[in-house]
Amino acid sequence: MNEGNDRRHARARQRPPWQDQALCAETDPDAFFPEKGGSTSDAKKVCQNCPVRAECLEYALEHDERFGIWGGLSEPERRKIRRQRRREDRVPAVAATEKTCTGCEITKPLSEFHLRSRSGYEHRCKACRAAADRERWQRRKLRKPLERAA
Ligand code: SF4
Ligand SMILES: [Zn+2]
Repeated sequence: MNEGNDRRHARARQRPPWQDQALCAETDPDAFFPEKGGSTSDAKKVCQNCPVRAECLEYALEHDERFGIWGGLSEPERRKIRRQRRREDRVPAVAATEKTCTGCEITKPLSEFHLRSRSGYEHRCKACRAAADRERWQRRKLRKPLERAA
């Protein structure tokens, strides 16, 4: 990466285009960065009428802005949203209700699979699993007399 590129990136980071419409630019900037415990209500009131409130909030969330009011929210309020989003990321939007067995390759409801508490549902359905167990026992039974004979 060359230096010109670096500088362009830095400038783009400093000033995203939506900031041209930022309502707070026309007001007292100090209100948006209150002292610890200071009032945030004046700033929030401005944000309520700001045309780029959504962009502003997304920007702050994305860049992990830790100070001041952004998009009408304080840092603790933004932290809550970040936490919530992280949680949502971990949970699939739609929980699976069925899966495909690696044995018979038929897609069946989860109730057709044994649930192992740690690793979730088994790869093979109950029927395939039972068939495999049966086969194993039969093989063992067949082997026994041979072993004895040996
Ligand atoms: S939402 Fe609030 S902090 Fe963000 S640009 Fe608008 S007025 Fe400024
Ligand atoms: Zn199966």
